[in-house]
Amino acid sequence: MSIDVHVHPWTKALMKKNGPIMKACDFFKLDVEKLPRTTDQLIDEMDEAGVSKAVILGQDTHATKNPAFKNYTLRNDEIAKLAAKSKDRLVPFAGVDPNAGKDAMRELKRAIRSLGMRGLKVHSSANSVYINDRKLMYPIYELCQDSSIPILFHTGTTGLGDTEIRYSKPELLDEVCQDFPDLKVVMAHFGWPWPEVTIAIALRNPNVFIDVSGWKPKYIPQSIYPYLNGILQDRFLFGTDYPMLRQKEWLDDFRANLAPKLKQGVAEKLLSGNAKRLLSA
Ligand SMILES: [Zn+2]
Repeated sequence: MSIDVHVHPWTKALMKKNGPIMKACDFFKLDVEKLPRTTDQLIDEMDEAGVSKAVILGQDTHATKNPAFKNYTLRNDEIAKLAAKSKDRLVPFAGVDPNAGKDAMRELKRAIRSLGMRGLKVHSSANSVYINDRKLMYPIYELCQDSSIPILFHTGTTGLGDTEIRYSKPELLDEVCQDFPDLKVVMAHFGWPWPEVTIAIALRNPNVFIDVSGWKPKYIPQSIYPYLNGILQDRFLFGTDYPMLRQKEWLDDFRANLAPKLKQGVAEKLLSGNAKRLLSA
């Protein structure tokens, strides 16, 4: 059984009222009619694909100035409710808007202490705040490090429209990892188009993990294979970016195209072993 570390519990209704997400659907060439109608569908799809657990990601842009993101927030209470209903199948990660300053800190504390959130998702491009912003981001990192809460960072380009890549460049995370050496970090989408930078940061910082979400296995660049099979085999994580990619379609593609190229034991680490260590699950 596998653990998907990158899931957006989005429904067609939520997606349709978000311009940036609809642009992502175009980017991924998705048939909008096939998007999930309800959040319950996620568990059915996990069962069908043999996925035991999934990390569901919050998102918060309520204080972000970019008007395209006005309907984007998915409240932490909603994420916590979905996780509670799932009998431990869904692992909740909070979202907070760093533009809200002290209110973001209050919300993050509430999410961890009262709602039982197990991690934080940061999408710097959605919030138009640089990953290494000392004023807005560093207090958040300090709280997560002190609470032993991992952070999953969107890194690299994004399918989301109406936003900019520069806020999420993977190189910005190097100094964050150096300044918060005990913080567990996931760099999502291997930071493409800067996978080498992402790998360099993981090599320098032992608490950095890399998720391969948003990419069908057959398209994952071959330059990554030596690290996935070698020195970083304990740090790569399976993720889909559901519903942009569905779990069954990812795992079918994985078995056909990537699994045969992996050394013995590496598939198990990628699909679940490393995520168990990250999530202490
Ligand atoms: Zn994502």
